Amino acid sequence: MSFSNLGLSPSLLEGVKAMGYAEPTPIQLRAIPLVLAGRDVIGSAQTGTGKTAAFALPILSKLGNHQPQSRVLVLEPTRELAAQVETAIRDFARFTDLKVAVVFGGVGYGRQTEALKTGVDVIVATPGRLLDHLEHGNCKLDRIQHLVLDEADRMLDMGFLPDVRRIIEKCPRKRQTMLFSATIPPAIETLISWAMHQPQTVEIGLRRSPADTVKHVIYPVAETQKTDLLLALLSHVQYESVIVFCRTKHGADRVARTLKRNNYAVAVLHSNRTQREREQALDGFRNGKYEMLVATDIAARGLDIEAVSHVINYDVPQHPEDYIHRIGRTGRAESSGEAFTIMVAEDAQAVAAIERFIAKKVARVKLEGFDYRYTALFESGKPGQTGGFPGRTIGVRVHGGYHFAPGGRRRRR
Ligand code: AMP
Repeated sequence: MSFSNLGLSPSLLEGVKAMGYAEPTPIQLRAIPLVLAGRDVIGSAQTGTGKTAAFALPILSKLGNHQPQSRVLVLEPTRELAAQVETAIRDFARFTDLKVAVVFGGVGYGRQTEALKTGVDVIVATPGRLLDHLEHGNCKLDRIQHLVLDEADRMLDMGFLPDVRRIIEKCPRKRQTMLFSATIPPAIETLISWAMHQPQTVEIGLRRSPADTVKHVIYPVAETQKTDLLLALLSHVQYESVIVFCRTKHGADRVARTLKRNNYAVAVLHSNRTQREREQALDGFRNGKYEMLVATDIAARGLDIEAVSHVINYDVPQHPEDYIHRIGRTGRAESSGEAFTIMVAEDAQAVAAIERFIAKKVARVKLEGFDYRYTALFESGKPGQTGGFPGRTIGVRVHGGYHFAPGGRRRRR
């Protein structure tokens, strides 16, 4: 099946070709015809599945030529996602005369106001800043025909749902609504029944399973040895690029400092950093200036970062669905990846919750040659005992083999 059979307009097909997309991904195959037919769509797909194009291509295709009234609104939970989706939309629409504006907090109003006032077809926005612009009369939503609520579960986590509701109330009732969410908790169900009309669900793969291309294991360790284990893993594994996830902003800063002291080129991404710092971190990580990105969940959710070979959870995620999101940073598209989770005794419940969520036990492994101190986690896992593991010792699996050579670190090619 090729893009040309899906009913997209010729200029959008040209845009797709220029992006180098050969074939539609499964979510694109299923969602594009539904969106073109004007249906409301709920999309649930793993990250990196091409969901941006799945909604953007058919919507842009339906818009035709530029008009000064905004007809499309895409809501995103974070500035980075908003910027990323705006870039994708500009790329897809490059052979049309459609205009796009992106608005998000943390930066000045001037350029955003100017862009909105020129009259754009598509607005990509984070909820809070969009409400500010609406209050200042910088834009209107009364001609919106297509509304996209992207990463709805994350908007819920971040407390944006009241803002999202206020925004939806300003849109015409007669509109097409699309909602993307990795999970559908009750609050999102309520939003769906309130904001959507007979939606069709497009679900690709198991909503709760990590991508098949990711090998993921848990490394239990004593609390006092977390950092040492992180450094040992990094010096054993052959990586191209690594994201290290931390629970808190301070934790992320601390881990980044340690890595820098150990001569790694590291960028940090969390919400206390300025917009400029966040952009520099992401750009530097994408273009290879930094080999590692230390990040918190909120900052990293849904970001399209290509070819991350390894994800290391320095801290176990508190929300089970974040485990899927974090390890979804690797093994994207065709490439395979590895995800390591460092676990200490107090993580037992969080790990059990993750394993219930993905309906699978994650293997506990030891790093060969690492000078382990005792932790209760090493008590052999009796049936029914959470957190125990049989003390299996394996090295870090690299491309099908086991790699134990010290100093085997490979910088990004
Ligand atoms: P998304 O899930 O929208 O964040 O997309 C993930 C990545 O897949 C992005 O880098 C897209 O440019 C890329 N992508 C989306 N659709 C396709 C496709 N049909 N063929 C190849 N790459 C794609």
